[in-house]
Amino acid sequence: MSKDVKKQPICLTDLTDQALSDFVAELGQPAYRAKQLRHWLYKELASSFEQMGNLPQALRAKLIKKAVVSCIDPVHELVSKDSTIKVLFALLDGKTVEASVMQHPAGKGNNRYTVCVSTQAGCAIGCPFCATGQQGFERNLTPGEIIDQVLYFTRRVRLNGGTEPDYAPNVVFMGMGEPLANYNALMQAIETLNAGDGFNLGARSMTVSTAGLVPKIERFAKEPRQVGLAVSLHAASDALRNMLVPINKTYPLKRLMAVCNKYVETTGRRITFEYILFGGLNDSIPQAVELATLLKGMNCHVNLIAANPVEGSRFKPPTHSTSLSFLSELERRHISCTLRVSKGADIGAGCGQLRSRVAGANKS
Ligand code: SF4
Repeated sequence: MSKDVKKQPICLTDLTDQALSDFVAELGQPAYRAKQLRHWLYKELASSFEQMGNLPQALRAKLIKKAVVSCIDPVHELVSKDSTIKVLFALLDGKTVEASVMQHPAGKGNNRYTVCVSTQAGCAIGCPFCATGQQGFERNLTPGEIIDQVLYFTRRVRLNGGTEPDYAPNVVFMGMGEPLANYNALMQAIETLNAGDGFNLGARSMTVSTAGLVPKIERFAKEPRQVGLAVSLHAASDALRNMLVPINKTYPLKRLMAVCNKYVETTGRRITFEYILFGGLNDSIPQAVELATLLKGMNCHVNLIAANPVEGSRFKPPTHSTSLSFLSELERRHISCTLRVSKGADIGAGCGQLRSRVAGANKS
């Protein structure tokens, strides 16, 4: 651990239940103070120690010196016409990550908003269409840095009266980074978010996305919680996927499909495949047939997402009619699929775009 990291305050959301109890004991406090703190963090969504009214003033003063309630700080934000909000957060060491919230129209069940969170600062996978992939890898996020993104947006949606206090978000670990490459921190974050005395979010309301880290998918299949899995496929041939998702060179489609089939068998859960449609690259009818053949017989769902237009990018959006034809071809071949409406296109909701923009502006 570097000297800088040592100097940083303790982030309470980084602490497991046990670690929080130990911390409270070190402060010479009775055990029930840990429960009170947890309640303030995950039920009341407190954003400062001052709000924690049932803690003695002297304890709050000690906590302010040693710890922080949140280890992320919003530094920039964009709000889309469709009400998607994207925020750039500064971490305690000055690194930045993005996260976003998408709000859904009423009447679609209790989960009225989806929070998309980052698990790493930067990403080592290097997908050429992704702004984060072009920034390289900086570091893994801590569990608290992951959790705090969910708490931030939940607090915000509730404060804005956008939803009833009891409505929970969907959480997708799909922002910057490869979640399964930061396995232990991700699992600790999921545990805290899922715990009854934590954020109490149903496991089924969470989805972990992966570019296809085969050994980690195998491990994930053995986890007891019913958290969903989404695999970013984007191509149904190795030649094209090697280019679009470079981890495919290490774990080619044959291995990826074998582990996905095993995941479905082991967990009994349906797997989701994300397929971004890029105009003239992976959106033809023969490619839809290739995809349907690859997934034939698997309990899965395909999310087709029309690529957002990115200025100067060689990756273009498909036409709407091409997207619809691709969808129809999959349906004709009995593949469960949906064409997702692109959210936040006007604010560049693609992961890493805001961070690149802010970094660019700061340089000029
Ligand atoms: S698309 Fe995901 S896996 Fe690929 S570089 Fe971007 S963040 Fe990493």
